[in-house]
Amino acid sequence: MVALYCRDHHTSADGGTCAECRELLAYAERRLAKCPYGKDKPTCANCPVHCYKAAQREQARVIMRYAGPRMLWRHPLLAVLHLVDGRRRVPHPLEMRRARRESPHDT
Ligand SMILES: [Zn+2]
Repeated sequence: MVALYCRDHHTSADGGTCAECRELLAYAERRLAKCPYGKDKPTCANCPVHCYKAAQREQARVIMRYAGPRMLWRHPLLAVLHLVDGRRRVPHPLEMRRARRESPHDT
């Protein structure tokens, strides 16, 4: 999605994703590595953990708003899955930890 946004809004010498967007992607990956939900991560709009700093969060929001509707045409199935996923409620990490304490055998 970042690549899609970048292609239409930025220009980079080699025609690829620009340095600024690559930096945002690298940042997103670092955040994801520390995400308590891991691969089970909810969509960011739905996530109780606001892990992005304000600037990156705003950048990501703008990109998603632009690329979101366009994804629907390019990858309809993925986009629909993402929408469904956006409705999934997730417990706060503290709740998850509490639940784990209360039922240690339920893993
Ligand atoms: Zn860019």
